[in-house]
Amino acid sequence: MSNTAYETNLQTIAAIASEKEEENDHFLRSLRHHSGAVLDEMANRIYQDVNAAVDCTACGNCCQKLVVNITQPEIERLAVFMNMTEENLREKYIEESLAGNCFINTVPCHFLSGTSCSIYPERFTECRDFPHLHKPGFKERFLGTLLHYPSCPIIYNTVEVMKRELKFIE
Ligand code: SF4
Ligand code: SF4
Repeated sequence: MSNTAYETNLQTIAAIASEKEEENDHFLRSLRHHSGAVLDEMANRIYQDVNAAVDCTACGNCCQKLVVNITQPEIERLAVFMNMTEENLREKYIEESLAGNCFINTVPCHFLSGTSCSIYPERFTECRDFPHLHKPGFKERFLGTLLHYPSCPIIYNTVEVMKRELKFIE
């Protein structure tokens, strides 16, 4: 567990994000001068520290905003977990695109209860993986990551530590 004091107040982060829009645009462009592998290692290392210090169950902000894609095996596991038939589960909670992709049919997510996930042990891969900072491809995904910078404390803090480590800011 990290001893670093990270900012977790959502209003404070949103306000700072609006002040830092131009800085973040410059930071995005500056990343082209860095190796993708170096950025992946740095993002993952800092993310692990931030993630250990930030309590997602006291936040739930991404569950308010994301469209969550789910797979057939996840639907089957959730039906068992909720003691429902797959048919009833699909009817109540799931939408299917013409291409056959399934996703939760409400934003915010049905399963958000206060700031916590009511199906936490069976939450979906997309939920577990967000905000994807532990995965290779940080540099290529960074534009999308920045979209959630104002609303996700893990992204906000990870990006701010990266800026300092890369000497982009003091
Ligand atoms: S399933 Fe749980 S973790 Fe995933 S979006 Fe819904 S409330 Fe959030
Ligand atoms: S991933 Fe980010 S937005 Fe989602 S609950 Fe955790 S800190 Fe909040």
